[in-house]
Amino acid sequence: MQKRVEEQLFQRLVEISGKENVITSASGIEDYTRDMADYEATPAVVVRPRSEQEVVEIIGLAIESGMPVLPRGAGSSLTGAAVLKGAIMLDMRGMSRVVKVDTVNWYVQVQPGISLEDLNRELKASGFFFPPDPASSYICTVGGAIAEGSGGLRCVRYGTMKDWVVALRVVLPNGKVTRLGEPLAKNRAGYDLVHLMVGSEGTLGVITEAWLKIVPLQSVRTRRFLVTFNDWESTGEVIRRLRSSKILPYLFEFLDRDNIQALNEKLEASFEEAEATLMVDVEEGEEVQLATEIFRDCGARRIILAKDEEEAETFYQARSMAYLAVKSLASGVQVEDVVLPIDRLGEFLKFVKEVASKYGIKIPVNGHAGDGNVHPTILYDKSDEKSRATANLAYEELCRKAIAMGGSVTGEHGVGVQKTRFLREQLYSHEGEEALRLMKEIKKIFDPDGLMNPGKYVEAA
Ligand SMILES: Cc1cc2nc3c(=O)[nH]c(=O)nc-3n(C[C@H](O)[C@H](O)[C@H](O)COP(=O)(O)OP(=O)(O)OC[C@H]3O[C@@H](n4cnc5c(N)ncnc54)[C@H](O)[C@@H]3O)c2cc1C
Repeated sequence: MQKRVEEQLFQRLVEISGKENVITSASGIEDYTRDMADYEATPAVVVRPRSEQEVVEIIGLAIESGMPVLPRGAGSSLTGAAVLKGAIMLDMRGMSRVVKVDTVNWYVQVQPGISLEDLNRELKASGFFFPPDPASSYICTVGGAIAEGSGGLRCVRYGTMKDWVVALRVVLPNGKVTRLGEPLAKNRAGYDLVHLMVGSEGTLGVITEAWLKIVPLQSVRTRRFLVTFNDWESTGEVIRRLRSSKILPYLFEFLDRDNIQALNEKLEASFEEAEATLMVDVEEGEEVQLATEIFRDCGARRIILAKDEEEAETFYQARSMAYLAVKSLASGVQVEDVVLPIDRLGEFLKFVKEVASKYGIKIPVNGHAGDGNVHPTILYDKSDEKSRATANLAYEELCRKAIAMGGSVTGEHGVGVQKTRFLREQLYSHEGEEALRLMKEIKKIFDPDGLMNPGKYVEAA
């Protein structure tokens, strides 16, 4: 875009959102050039809208100028979805108000820029909570979590974002505002466009308000285990045994030795460095006894039952830090997010280790055992072309194996630019050729001029 035209556009953005909310300097923009897996691209300008009306006017300018738009929350996503070259980037964190907590109908009406942790802090005052809890809850926003269809540690019990969003207000790429869905317990009026927006990765519109289901603070007393094993087959067996005993844990996570070592170093902690570690919450009483027996039968090395809430919280915080701890081990990371049929998780985890040893690289792995969702984090040296290429081969092998096992290439991180090829491969090999065609048509219906987060996700698959 010509310099003068660009300057005129910036001036009009200032008129809409105020000088203090329009960032054009290279140093100011720097904070918006990366996501948390280090995908990089530089926007043309960053605007911090304070109201839906401002978003409408900014989209109007984008339509006029043909400049692409990218809504962004905390930029904590991991696939390149939250960066875009030459874009008008909307930092939505200025719209962070809790509009209404309805303690009879059990929903919260909220703006998209609030972090999930702050939302839960506000809900606690009314005795409620919002269960989906990505490990990034301390920063990630409601809008980002909806647009990514995020999951988290408690999702084995409570489901992911898609299970909690009942209605949205959205500014569409044509500049019009619409409400999707209703803040009701049931609603069958028309196609389910609410859930089309969940996981839309900023490609279909800007979410400006959300109605989310909430539940009373958990009254069931649970206990937290940390259990170690010498091999992955045993952890696979634990998963099968817990499920066939009809125990549905409140939280069910796993970490490998590399993750525990990285955490011990980062947190100056002394967790046991075993091949496999499980973190499991079950109901106090009978379930604790039954789970202990299952761990023992499956050959647990060590079974620790957190003695109080403080110790349980220490385990949780460590798990939340795992990605950042392993990320700091190398200059480059390729973080994976495949999902397997739950009963085949142990088999896949063993495969991850085989791939790591085949290529002579480190692939720390953690994930959500209860959902079959695995996060191998492939480490490489960014400055070494060969190392990057090897990481890529390992990454491809893991994606293909997951697809071949009837799994998915993403459970919660989404596609962004990272997984477009494998989104296609998955849909094609799972009889979804027509599904992909429909998805591409849907993008065109919402956004015929390709303004919103173009060149990514479904469009690029
Ligand atoms: C340490 C760490 C742990 C993590 N753990 C998890 C985990 O357990 N589970 C999980 O699912 N993810 C996890 N993630 C990934 C990430 O945190 C989530 O995807 C998160 O929900 C993204 O929220 P955000 O506000 O940072 O969104 P961003 O990264 O800013 O944006 C993500 C996408 O949402 C779109 N978007 C943002 N706001 C809006 C809006 N208002 N309207 C429309 N589109 C919008 C953006 O355009 C982009 O496509 C983790 C990341 C880190 C760094």
